[in-house]
Amino acid sequence: MWACAIEGCGYSAGDAEELLTHQADEHEHRCAVCETLLPDGYFAIRHAFEAHSRVEYMRAYDADADDVREREAAVDAVEAAVDVEAVADRVDVELESSGGPDETSKN
Ligand SMILES: [Zn+2]
Ligand SMILES: [Zn+2]
Repeated sequence: MWACAIEGCGYSAGDAEELLTHQADEHEHRCAVCETLLPDGYFAIRHAFEAHSRVEYMRAYDADADDVREREAAVDAVEAAVDVEAVADRVDVELESSGGPDETSKN
């Protein structure tokens, strides 16, 4: 079971895809680093980690290394469970490109 971790939301989804769809429908988040508007939850975290450095993330969100590790683990769990790009496509969210031909050059 996948519980929505966003404060004040008691939603629980049967699978990761349902959770991401829920977050895209119900939760909105403005990136604290670059002010891009995204769904809260997985997509917001993924954006923060793909588009910004961990240092920027920690500064903007007042997070520490444990917070980062926890969120990285959450992102990994979602990505292991669902084809995120397909869901993003369906809910009309633009993903930072970690896929595609440039993937191997990412460091
Ligand atoms: Zn929720
Ligand atoms: Zn951003």
